[in-house]
Amino acid sequence: MDDLYRENIIDHYKNPGYKGRLVPADLSFEDGNPLCGDELQIDLQVDENGIVTDARFEGHGCAISQASADLVIEDIIGKNVEDLKKMSKEDVLDLLGIEQLGPVRLKCALLSLKVLKGAIYGIPQKDEDL
Ligand code: ZN
Repeated sequence: MDDLYRENIIDHYKNPGYKGRLVPADLSFEDGNPLCGDELQIDLQVDENGIVTDARFEGHGCAISQASADLVIEDIIGKNVEDLKKMSKEDVLDLLGIEQLGPVRLKCALLSLKVLKGAIYGIPQKDEDL
């Protein structure tokens, strides 16, 4: 397991750049990963053209889930929500610098994508639909 906790992940976990809340937020969603106890909320501000102008996350859980949220937020600011609907699990794993994860850790890594898409669509997302 230790080799999964690469320096980049630990760094984003310990010193997240985008942790906090946006009040008011245009889009906001929260979900959790009961297998690990990770919880995550994502707030987005979106302009009239559908561009994410700012975003933050709040939550707690394992290093992978929280680092993934920070990396995803960093990546999506300035992007169009229509394009973010196409964001894939491979995109998130690329951000984390991880190629392969077991099923439990994969849910940790992808919680950020699940919450992001929940915010965009306004409804909870299923793991198998990510
Ligand atoms: Zn976790």
